[in-house]
Amino acid sequence: MNHDKMTNISVKRGFLWPSFEIYSGVAGFTDYGPLGAILKNNIMQKWRKQYITEEGFYEIESPTVSPEEVLRASGHVNNFTDPMTQCVNCKDVFRADHIIEEQIKKEVDGLDNDDLDKLIKEEEIQCPNCGDKLTEIWNYNLMFKTKIGAKGDKIGYMRPETAQGIFIQFKRLSRFFKNKLPFGVVQLGKAYRNEISPRQGVIRLREFTQAEAEIFVNPKYKTHPKFSKIKDVEMVLNSAVTQIKNESPLTITAKEAVDKGIVANEILVYQIYLAKKFLNELGIPDKFLRFRQHMPNEMAHYALDCWDVEVKTDRYGWVEIIGIADRGDYDLLAHSKHSNEDLNIYIQYDEPKTQTKEYIKPSMNTFGPKFKQNAPAIIKKLENLNVDLVKKEIENNGKYIIKINNSSFEILATDVEFVEKTEEVKGEKITPHVIEPSFGIDRIIYAVLIHSFHEAENKEDKDYFKLKPNIAPIQVSVFPLLNKKELNEIAIKIVEELRNYGLNVDYDTSGTIGKRYARCDEIGVPIAITIDFDTLENNSVTIRNRDDETQERIDIDEIKTKIDKVMKS
Ligand code: AMP
Repeated sequence: MNHDKMTNISVKRGFLWPSFEIYSGVAGFTDYGPLGAILKNNIMQKWRKQYITEEGFYEIESPTVSPEEVLRASGHVNNFTDPMTQCVNCKDVFRADHIIEEQIKKEVDGLDNDDLDKLIKEEEIQCPNCGDKLTEIWNYNLMFKTKIGAKGDKIGYMRPETAQGIFIQFKRLSRFFKNKLPFGVVQLGKAYRNEISPRQGVIRLREFTQAEAEIFVNPKYKTHPKFSKIKDVEMVLNSAVTQIKNESPLTITAKEAVDKGIVANEILVYQIYLAKKFLNELGIPDKFLRFRQHMPNEMAHYALDCWDVEVKTDRYGWVEIIGIADRGDYDLLAHSKHSNEDLNIYIQYDEPKTQTKEYIKPSMNTFGPKFKQNAPAIIKKLENLNVDLVKKEIENNGKYIIKINNSSFEILATDVEFVEKTEEVKGEKITPHVIEPSFGIDRIIYAVLIHSFHEAENKEDKDYFKLKPNIAPIQVSVFPLLNKKELNEIAIKIVEELRNYGLNVDYDTSGTIGKRYARCDEIGVPIAITIDFDTLENNSVTIRNRDDETQERIDIDEIKTKIDKVMKS
C-alpha cells in the first residue's frame, strides 16, 4: 500500500485528477479522468446490480438542490454542523475535533463543544500553522447555501445526502409499492458538504457521490427472509461495548451477532453482510475491513444505531467508507410534522381485530366559529394525521400548526378532543422504520485503487493496478505483434467484434510488445490478445492473463468464451 506511488500512477494514467488545476486548484474537489470515470461507472453499475437486480429495490433520481423547508424538517439546517475554531493570530480556521485528535493522538468522537473547548485549554492545543492560541469553538453548518429564482427570496441548499429526496416522495413510493412493506428505494448521485479544511484527497470532498438505499420496514418485524443463507458468514465487529472496554473487535458469525444482541436484528446484519460482499467482490479482502458501531454520543441526529464499514489504509488509518444506519421513524415523522402530510402506511391484518383506538375530534363549539369556511378542509387534514404526533405537539408546544395552501392554522388544545372508540379494525396505519446503507463511492474508489495497487518488488517487477476484471475500465488490449497491414487488419476486426460484444477494448500498436504489456498491466487491463504471423496461417491468437502472466494459444472463435471466464473470476 504505497499511497504516493499509487496516487502518481492514478494521476498519470487518467484515473483521478486534481480539479480546476490550471487556476491553482480548489481543495475538496476531484475530477475523474478517462479511466477513472469508467471505473466509477463500473462500480456504480455493480452496486446497482447488487441492490436493484439482486435485492429487488428501485432507483429514483431527485434534484440536488433542495428548498430550505426540506432540510429544516430533516434537521440538517439546525444539526448538520461541525465544531470549528480559528487561530487568533493567522486567522486560519480548523475543525476543532480534528486538530485536537492530531495533537493529543486520541479520538475525541462524540464530545460536545464545551468538552472540546476544555481540551483545547487543558492540552494547550495550538494553531498547527503558527503555534498561536485558538478561539472558542462555534458550530459551522456544512451545507452549501444558494438562492432559488431571480427574486432571491427562496433559500435553497445543495443536498448533503441523497436520502432526503427519497423520504419526501414516500407517499408516491408507498403507492408504487402497493403499500406493502418492506420495500427498498435507492438513489445514486452527488452530495455536497462544505468541509472545513479537506486535505485528504478523495476521502474528504466537498462534492462527492453517494449510493444510498432506504429500506422501509415494519418495525414489528426484525427478521430477514435471506438470513438463513448468510447466518454463518463471519464478520469483524467493533461494537460500542468493545470500544468502551478497549477490547479488540470480535470476529463472529452473523447469527452470533444477532443472538448476542451485538447487532440489533437480522435486517441490520444482512445489510452489513451485503456491504462486506460488495467490497470483497471489488477486491478488498476481509483482513482490511471491519465494522465499527457508533458510540451513543457519536450518532448522527437521525440515527438509532449506526455501523460504519471501515477500510484499512496506510496513509489515513481506518477510514469509514460506508455507513449503515437504523434511522428509525425519524425522517418520516419529521417530514410529516413539517409538511402536514400523512406519511404512514396502512397495513392490513390477516384477521380483523377488536381494538380501542384514539381519534382526533374537532370541538364543534370552537372549530366552526374559529376557522369558518376553512373548517372542512382542516377537519379533513386532521383525519389523516398521526394522532400521537398531533397530541405530542399540542402537549409540548400548546399548538399544532396545519398548513393549507400557504395559510397556517393553529390548532389549540381547546379546538380538539382526543376520543377513544372500540371497534373492529381490519388494519392499522404505521410509520415505517428505515434502514439505510450509505456508500461513499469516491472513498470506495480510493480503497479499490490502494488495495489493488501492486508495487514492484524488484527491478524485473513493475507497479500496476490489479483491478478485478469486472470493474477494470478496459477489459481487453489487442496488439498486433508488428505494425504490419495484414496483422492490423485482423486486429481491428477482433477489436470491433469485442466492442460489439460490449467490452471496452484498447488497440495499441506503438512500441515493443513488452512495453505494450507493461502499459496495459499498469492500468489494470486483465486480458491481452496478440495477433502474429501464425494468426494468418491458422486463425489462432495468444491470450495473456495479467494476473498470472500465463499465455495460451487459442482459436479466434474461442476468444469470447475465454474472456467471459476471466470476467467471472
Ligand atoms: P454519512 O451520511 O456522513 O454517513 O456519509 C455516508 C458516506 O458518504 C460515508 O461513509 C462516506 O463514504 C461518504 N462521505 C461522507 N462525507 C464525505 C466527504 N466529505 N467526502 C467523500 N465522501 C464522504
